[in-house]
Amino acid sequence: MTTEKFLVRFRGVRGSYPVPGPSTIQVGGNTSCVEVWAGGHLIIVDAGTGIISLGRDLARQYAIDKKPVVATILFSHTHHDHTQGFPFFEPAYFGTSTLYMFGPKNFYEDVEEALTRAMLAPSFPIALDELKSLRIISNIDETGVIVLDQNKEPQIVNIYREKITASPQAVRISSMRSFYHPKGGVTLYRIEWAGKKMVYASDTEGYVGGDTRLIRFSEEADLLIHDAQYTTEEYLTGDIPKQGWGHSTPEMATAVAKAARVKRLVLFHHDPLHDDEMLSAIEREARLAFPNTVLAYEGLTIEL
Ligand SMILES: [Zn+2]
Ligand SMILES: [Zn+2]
Repeated sequence: MTTEKFLVRFRGVRGSYPVPGPSTIQVGGNTSCVEVWAGGHLIIVDAGTGIISLGRDLARQYAIDKKPVVATILFSHTHHDHTQGFPFFEPAYFGTSTLYMFGPKNFYEDVEEALTRAMLAPSFPIALDELKSLRIISNIDETGVIVLDQNKEPQIVNIYREKITASPQAVRISSMRSFYHPKGGVTLYRIEWAGKKMVYASDTEGYVGGDTRLIRFSEEADLLIHDAQYTTEEYLTGDIPKQGWGHSTPEMATAVAKAARVKRLVLFHHDPLHDDEMLSAIEREARLAFPNTVLAYEGLTIEL
């Protein structure tokens, strides 16, 4: 992948559980995973089942050029739909791969423990520490910026105590905690490179008057990827209103996009019960509120 480009490719765009089948063929049925290339670094945000096709592509490339896979994987949280693809990510089984993995500590549990638990017998036959790849797994919180510099290991720089001394070509990844996701909250990420920035805000629920912290975090971003799982009707009415379930409506997403003056909004983490037809209606309606809105679909590639 070229080092001059900042590329974002959607590998899995669903929330909750995968939904293959004829009614989701256009948007895709895999759970959350976004592939990002910046400054020649591969950054993977979340490891839902969408990460499996990315792993396949990386494995094919490795078979050709024998260049070891090096990737930074950011976990927003460790719910199934954000981790379930990882045990099927082929480069994790290559002894030459290096995976730098970051995620939030949840209550008293390090992200490494949570990921270990997700792969334990009898739920899965291979344990995390049996994988051949080298994995460096670290907790991340709002005090730390992850810096990816050329030919160096990723560094976590404490923004209150240290100066970032990286080269201008370095990628910077900041995080923000959103508490409104049952039960332990979720971490949102901002990736900045070459004067451009994107924000990944999945599994977050809006607030009355807008999420002020998220608006500041996303200020003038080139791309905002925002949860839009429920329609306002589903959120507020029906047999089981979805208020408090930790997800947003397209209205909440467009409100953040507008207030933060972002250049482009991508609606993400689609409800598994929403078919292609319904999602395209949601996209049309969201564009009335924020014209530069697109619905995430598998294969959507955006260059910043
Ligand atoms: Zn989710
Ligand atoms: Zn979740």
